[in-house]
Amino acid sequence: MPQMPAVLANTLMPWFAKPSQVTHVEALAPRLKRVRFEGTSLRGVVHEPGHEVEFRVSATEFRHYTPSLLDAQHGAMEVVFYLHGQGPGSAWAQGLKAGDAVDILGPGGRLAVDPDADAHLFLGDETCLGLFQAMVRALPSPLRLSGAVEVEPGCEDWVEKVGVSLTAVARAPGQARGEALSAWLAGNVRGDATCYLAGHAGSIVRLRQELLERHGFDKRALRSKAYWADGKRGL
Ligand SMILES: Cc1cc2nc3c(=O)[nH]c(=O)nc-3n(C[C@H](O)[C@H](O)[C@H](O)COP(=O)(O)OP(=O)(O)OC[C@H]3O[C@@H](n4cnc5c(N)ncnc54)[C@H](O)[C@@H]3O)c2cc1C
Repeated sequence: MPQMPAVLANTLMPWFAKPSQVTHVEALAPRLKRVRFEGTSLRGVVHEPGHEVEFRVSATEFRHYTPSLLDAQHGAMEVVFYLHGQGPGSAWAQGLKAGDAVDILGPGGRLAVDPDADAHLFLGDETCLGLFQAMVRALPSPLRLSGAVEVEPGCEDWVEKVGVSLTAVARAPGQARGEALSAWLAGNVRGDATCYLAGHAGSIVRLRQELLERHGFDKRALRSKAYWADGKRGL
């Protein structure tokens, strides 16, 4: 739920949220930040790589993010935030610093690695760097893995900075979102893979159609999760 009256949020948060503290902040790039949260409330949480959490980013607004790491044994979680600069979630993440108290809702969700897949294909944008890192770590074997992350021009080193073994493709100025991924896909498709699509909603629709109609994928081999949509506040 992206929005809730402050009075209701104040009442519900103590019941449902897991209290934590920011213990480490890493500026990977000016618009990319990794934050570590720790708390006893995170110990023993049941979680699968690909699941999401929710943060209260203002008195009335909530936004979803994805743990790039969740260590339930030690009560620690990391999130990679893309600071797009156009909403309260991005502003809240930008301001996070060591020592801040942060309440966490979740984790939960349905997106997860397909344990039976012969190969794995990842397609997404800057918001998916943490997701893909968590999912790639969870693969039974890293050998049959490929994929691309569409990034702002000049940010091709972000995949390496985060530590994701995927290809970065730059979105040329003026180019529609998803076009760079589509071009990469045309030369790198592998029909035996389970394909994970995340990030920009419009790009997911386009890539999904191409995978089904042009590249002969079966619907059951596609797993997707829209993370944001043009002009929409919070998904
Ligand atoms: C399940 C889930 C998991 C997610 N995990 C992550 C994560 O791990 N890391 C991460 O960085 N993001 C993640 N996101 C995406 C993030 O929640 C959205 O980008 C969200 O819109 C940010 O909130 P906001 O308040 O900054 O912007 P909003 O108030 O939601 O939107 C304001 C404006 O900004 C635009 N906008 C939103 N996101 C972007 C963007 N990425 N690029 C350009 N314009 C944008 C919107 O279209 C809108 O016009 C996740 C989303 C979901 C649903």
